[in-house]
Amino acid sequence: THFGFESVSEEEKTEKVYKVFANIAKKYDVMNDAMSLGIHRLWKDALLHKMNPTPGTLLLDVAGGTGDISFRFLEYVRFQLKQRTKQDVRSQQTPSWNAIAESYAAGHQNSNTVSQAIVCDINKAMLRVGKQRAAEQGYITGLSWVVGNAEELPFGDNMFDVYTIAFGIRNVTRIDMVLQEAHRVLKLGGHFLCLEFSQVTNPLLARLYDAYSFQMIPVLGEVIAGDWKSYQYLVESIRRFPDQEEFKAMIEDAGFFKQVYQYLFILVLLEKNILRE
Ligand code: SAM
Repeated sequence: THFGFESVSEEEKTEKVYKVFANIAKKYDVMNDAMSLGIHRLWKDALLHKMNPTPGTLLLDVAGGTGDISFRFLEYVRFQLKQRTKQDVRSQQTPSWNAIAESYAAGHQNSNTVSQAIVCDINKAMLRVGKQRAAEQGYITGLSWVVGNAEELPFGDNMFDVYTIAFGIRNVTRIDMVLQEAHRVLKLGGHFLCLEFSQVTNPLLARLYDAYSFQMIPVLGEVIAGDWKSYQYLVESIRRFPDQEEFKAMIEDAGFFKQVYQYLFILVLLEKNILRE
C-alpha cells in the first residue's frame, strides 16, 4: 500500500490514519455520498433500526467522525417520542415511557430523560466539522464531542447502554484493544454495534466491487477532494480488514456473546448486535 502497512510501526499507522482524516475532513460527507451514491445513509439508518433505542439510552459513538450515527440516534428517539405522545400511551407503554413521552409533550425536550450521545473520535478536524453540522442542523442538546482513541477510551467502566463504531474499526491499529475497550465501557447487557465493509463472498460481485472500488474511488477522491492517496488508503483498509467469521471470533474473544452479523446490500456490510456478558 502507499502506507506500506507491513513495515510501519503502530505509532506510524496511527499518525498516518490521522493525517488521512485530517486531510479529508471537510470533504468527508460529500465524498461519502459520492462514493456510495448516497447508500451509506441507508446503511446507517439500518444500524439505527437494529439498535432501536429507547428514551434514556446513553450512546457512545466511537470513531464517530462528523456525527452521522449520533444525529440519526437523536432523530430516532425524538421521532419515537413524538409518535408515542400521539398514541394512547397509557394502555401500551411502560410507566417510564409514559413519563418521558409526557415530559416531551410538555416541552421538556432538554430533559435528561431524553437520550444522549457522545461522539468520540481521535481526529479533531473530523469532530470540528461534525460540530458545525450539528449546529447547522439544530442538534444542540443531547450531544457531546470528545477527542479520544478507541484503543484507550477516556471513559469509566460500565457507562454506556450502546456502543457504535461505523466504518471506523478498520482504521484502528489494534482491533483487539478496541473490542476490549468497548466491552469495558458498556454496561452489563449493553449492545455493541459495528457497521463495516467486509469481504464479498460472491465471486462475480467481488470482481465488480474490486473494479469499482480500486478504479473509481481514488478517482472520485482526486476529483472531489483533491486527494487520491487518502481514498486509495480507504479502499486498501477494507481489503485488509478481517473477514466476517474472523471478526466475529475476535468479538467473542473480547467477551461478548450473541454475535450476529448481517449483510446489507451488495457491498457486504457487517452489522454486529452483541450483548455484553
Ligand atoms: N462513523 C463516521 C461515519 O460513519 O461517517 C466516521 C467514519 S470515518 C470512515 C472513520 C473515523 O475513524 C475517522 O473520523 C477517524 O478519525 C476515526 N478513527 C480512526 N482511528 C481511530 C481511533 N484509533 N480512535 C478513534 N477514532 C478513530
